[in-house]
Amino acid sequence: MELETETGWTLRVPRVLVAVNGFAKSLLPDVDVTPARNQVLITHPIPDLPVEGCFHYDRGYYYFRNVEGRVLLGGGRHLDNSIEQTSEFGANELIRSALVQLLKTVICPGRPVEIDAWWTGILGLGPVKKPIVERYSDNVVVAVRLNGMGVAIGTLIGQEGAEMLLNG
Ligand SMILES: Cc1cc2nc3c(=O)[nH]c(=O)nc-3n(C[C@H](O)[C@H](O)[C@H](O)COP(=O)(O)OP(=O)(O)OC[C@H]3O[C@@H](n4cnc5c(N)ncnc54)[C@H](O)[C@@H]3O)c2cc1C
Repeated sequence: MELETETGWTLRVPRVLVAVNGFAKSLLPDVDVTPARNQVLITHPIPDLPVEGCFHYDRGYYYFRNVEGRVLLGGGRHLDNSIEQTSEFGANELIRSALVQLLKTVICPGRPVEIDAWWTGILGLGPVKKPIVERYSDNVVVAVRLNGMGVAIGTLIGQEGAEMLLNG
């Protein structure tokens, strides 16, 4: 089998494990994974920040925590769900302004807060909260659709995919 890279290299490989999660459709369009972009911010340090621990707000659509005296805040995808079903990184101003509003009025009311950085991340979601670990063809296995749990279960799913590939 031959793999072509974006930089023009061609690699000859006997087997392939596809483990690109939310980006899977760009390689295998029929795999049932929907990309979901998330907007995230971190503030500059806030003196005497009262927030301690991890929090979920509004049915879990928003999440925030204290990271070394700063607020890490993300979520709000439900405000513009169809636009955020993308594997392209990039800002969504509607969601970003909702996150700023939440930061200033609920998380840190009455305190001066400054945002240090914004970024986006891509989840791989599906109709059921179950990862896909399956043989795609004789020499290709997919291990994707981590459903927002990949930090917790990603290494296990990768291992299961690799074992399926090697033992098949
Ligand atoms: C904001 C946010 C918060 C999250 N919070 C949590 C949490 O609290 N707990 C938790 O368990 N999980 C959480 N997750 C989910 C977790 O980050 C993902 O499930 C996990 O990163 C998936 O790991 P992965 O290695 O399968 O995919 P990714 O980390 O997405 O890595 C896929 C890689 O494949 C690369 N790639 C894409 N296309 C190609 C291609 N054609 N060829 C080669 N490489 C390619 C990409 O560049 C990327 O580096 C969160 C995700 C986000 C975005």
